[in-house]
Amino acid sequence: MAYVKKGYASKPLEWVTNEKGCHLVTSHRKDKQGYIKITRSVHNVRQHWQLHRYVYTQKHGEIPKGLVIMHSCDEPSCINLDHLSMGTVAENVADRDRKGRRRNGSNKEKKHM
Ligand SMILES: [Zn+2]
Repeated sequence: MAYVKKGYASKPLEWVTNEKGCHLVTSHRKDKQGYIKITRSVHNVRQHWQLHRYVYTQKHGEIPKGLVIMHSCDEPSCINLDHLSMGTVAENVADRDRKGRRRNGSNKEKKHM
């Protein structure tokens, strides 16, 4: 993942690897959904990206409009490309339902009662 290291964000990207092989970013703040947000300047225009989407585009090119990058591991802060795949919003929802968000019993995620 050498390409991750250079110039993604203003500060160096750091992550920890968990037992599932996830690269969970620890150096940047998460948003409400648990995604890592970065800001980049492109032609002097500041752009806000979700880091996993940005990582994906660095490897695979641009994400077509309307498509989302899904985590097979259900860890929003994971940037392991092996865990990322492109899909539609509908697929993403179906995937989530199929797997069941609660199965892993992660206590990092907020429980919705
Ligand atoms: Zn992962």
